[in-house]
Amino acid sequence: MKILVVGGAGYIGSHCVRQIQSAGHEPVILDNFVYGHRDSVPDGVTLYEGDMGDIAFTQPILENEKIDIVMHFAAFAYVGESTSDPLKYYDNNVAKTVQLLQAMRNAGVRKFIFSSSCTVFGEATEMPLHEDLPFNSFSPYGQTKQDVEILLGYCAKAYGLSYAIFRYFNASGADTDGQIGEDHDPETHLIPLAIQAARGQRDKLTVFGTDYPTPDGTCLRDYVHVNDLSRAHIAAFEKLAAPGTELNYNLGTGKPASVLEVIKVVEAVSGLPVPHDFGPRRDGDVPAAYANPKKAIQELDWKIEFPDIHSIIESAWKWHESHPNGFNQ
Ligand code: UDP
Repeated sequence: MKILVVGGAGYIGSHCVRQIQSAGHEPVILDNFVYGHRDSVPDGVTLYEGDMGDIAFTQPILENEKIDIVMHFAAFAYVGESTSDPLKYYDNNVAKTVQLLQAMRNAGVRKFIFSSSCTVFGEATEMPLHEDLPFNSFSPYGQTKQDVEILLGYCAKAYGLSYAIFRYFNASGADTDGQIGEDHDPETHLIPLAIQAARGQRDKLTVFGTDYPTPDGTCLRDYVHVNDLSRAHIAAFEKLAAPGTELNYNLGTGKPASVLEVIKVVEAVSGLPVPHDFGPRRDGDVPAAYANPKKAIQELDWKIEFPDIHSIIESAWKWHESHPNGFNQ
């Protein structure tokens, strides 16, 4: 099948492009390079540079390339920024997604895979998070994900759109071939920040909050490898055949790790100390978020190849060792 990967030069999108190729399908990348990296695009893969919100640009691509499925990884994802600039987030994450869906409708492309986030559940009353829990997001970012999820349901019923929603927990790690990995600017994520602190690229890491109701007082998160996430998407391809199919899955390992545990594992993997201090809680952080991945495992035969934080951090460490400045070598 031919897959248009919107945001295919970004962190999760670029890993998905390679997994699509490994599974014998053909990826086509669309990226505007606001956050994507040119060096993450594999040789020989067709690349379109432009905006997913521009129908005059996207519709001919969908038609001429005879795209079977569109995958959408092109959301903005800085929760704090979404609070200070909500219009930016609604414009990119909602309005431009509407235009992308409109282009698909015009072009007769009927299958869509959407990257959502566990943040749609907000501070849930139950843990682990399963798919039937109610939405309860509290940031503009989370709300944009929630809004698109709801819109997809309407599109399925009105136009026969078939979609799969994947709600990621903490996407982490790097492809084991060492060519691509996590490179955000600014970097806000725990694992790359801890690795950079260990490598002396940052003075220290600040642990945000030590008084959470968790075993060691720091937040619990479900770190899941990007290649595992990517393979779940590919497993959904065949399930989208019938018009109006609606699927959603929570993607995490179900095994949470605390901030202090992540620091210890980075120290064990690197053999270096992670200089750190302790600060107040970060606004918007929930004490714990981890998945019940049973539905994806059962329905998609999803196999988690990086089931523990150690193997995930090993892959991330390898990428940071070989690319200390990310893609800007
Ligand atoms: N975290 C931290 N210090 C940092 C960055 C993150 O203590 O400099 C914590 C954060 O409070 C959360 C966990 O690490 O509990 C994971 O944060 P990250 O930003 O990686 O992902 P999120 O869970 O917010 O999507």
